[in-house]
Amino acid sequence: SHARIGLVGLGVMGANLSLNIADHGFPIAVYNRTGAVTDAFVASAGDLAERLVPAQTYEDFVASLSKPRAIIIMVKAGGPVDAVIADLGPLLDEGDMIIDAGNANFHDTRRREAALREKGLNFIGMGVSGGEEGARHGPSIMVGGNKASYEVIRDIIEAISAKHDGQPCAAHFGPDGAGHFVKTVHNGIEYADMQMIAEVYGVLRDGAGRTPSEIGALFEAWDKGPLKSYLVEISGKVLQTADPKTGQPMVDVIVDTAGQKGTGRWTAIEAITLGQSPSTIEAAVAARSWSSEKATREAGQALFGDDAVETMPMPSDATLEKALLAAKLIAYDQGFKILIAASSTYDWGIDLAAAAEVWREGCIIRSALLDDMAQAIRAGLPHDQLIFAPTFADMIREGAPALRRVVAYAALKGLPIPAFANALAYFDTMRQGRGTTDLVQAQRDFFGAHGFERVDGGAGQHGPWAGTVSHS
Ligand code: NDP
Repeated sequence: SHARIGLVGLGVMGANLSLNIADHGFPIAVYNRTGAVTDAFVASAGDLAERLVPAQTYEDFVASLSKPRAIIIMVKAGGPVDAVIADLGPLLDEGDMIIDAGNANFHDTRRREAALREKGLNFIGMGVSGGEEGARHGPSIMVGGNKASYEVIRDIIEAISAKHDGQPCAAHFGPDGAGHFVKTVHNGIEYADMQMIAEVYGVLRDGAGRTPSEIGALFEAWDKGPLKSYLVEISGKVLQTADPKTGQPMVDVIVDTAGQKGTGRWTAIEAITLGQSPSTIEAAVAARSWSSEKATREAGQALFGDDAVETMPMPSDATLEKALLAAKLIAYDQGFKILIAASSTYDWGIDLAAAAEVWREGCIIRSALLDDMAQAIRAGLPHDQLIFAPTFADMIREGAPALRRVVAYAALKGLPIPAFANALAYFDTMRQGRGTTDLVQAQRDFFGAHGFERVDGGAGQHGPWAGTVSHS
């Protein structure tokens, strides 16, 4: 029998995505480099095995697909994707399509799309978020590439995606790398979101001496309010979990050095290339990098010890909640600005509201706020700023004093909160009509004759610096 779709790479994500596709009634051809994995996968698929068409060679795999062929690749990002494309390409016919569903760097997606297009093949870059559970029961899906080829598989993709009020959390964002770029920015925002929650945990733990289960209960309560989100929910659960081995809180037995696979870093790098500076995301990437220097941090603690200058009472739980909400909105504001800049640079025509909409369910950053964000974006963002939209401007007005209080408290107490501090600095910069770059411009003109613009008109002006240097 012929399947409309096939999948290569039966690892964690590929296996679950295949079962999800089969579960929605679509027969699917499956292939894995290590053949034994394919056999074990089919053997453990239960009733769904009847919709799986396993193959042990690429030839059999390709032969089991109806035309135009649609093949999802779900292997390790990077070299392995190129290796699979090199093996599959020669077996495919004009009009067939390859869909890379891994966490690709969008530059690779653009390169692969161009190379395959020359050969008459279609290449779709498809970001998938939601981890193992999402892949099996409904991920959030961000698609880029030829729109007409996407239309061929759209029913399958929408069927397997998460739903928000019945609407699929899957969308096509533009040609070539647009989908993978939206996924990358999703991950960047995810980094900031996670870091900010961890910073609140740090303030409560090291400032107020709260236990993990107390903090977890607070997060659980916040998950019923405006902060309702997957990440706050799981943080609450994690903090209230005990280590089966020692009985201690689970977080207390976990070494505080965080891993990263690169997508958060890519967001920061691409943003800077685009002239953006998503300082909250950069701070989250930095916090993970710094965390890996554990021995250095321990030496620093021995050297500098407690550096607190406490002169402020601990902010209340309600203040922390408002501060987290404000900081989070600022992180999303920065994330959306990266998408706006990339869409214009690469001519993608990304529908920003659609990004907020596909993130409402299925993905790691899903939250109650995303529906409001989508509506605010549809209504038009003043100056491309999410936090300037009326609903969010009101929230920021209410949350900013809380954010200020938390940042001040942490600074005096000697607690690091890089993402919160950057969120506040960004907000204060964006609400200051006259900044301090006039002096920077003067400095640049003084030492390099770079010129400046005068407030009373005229670009390329110079200051009367000659003879003002004193060598005392
Ligand atoms: P796994 O490590 O579980 O699976 C890797 C798969 O890649 C295996 O099927 C492996 O085959 C195959 N593979 C590796 N190298 C090659 C190669 N050179 N040629 C052919 N096949 C190869 O990975 P995941 O399922 O976790 O991740 C897959 C992709 O999905 C990655 O891009 C990842 O970043 C992305 N992703 C992962 C998420 C997660 O939560 N895990 C969430 C969202 C995206 P073999 O059995 O032969 O080794």
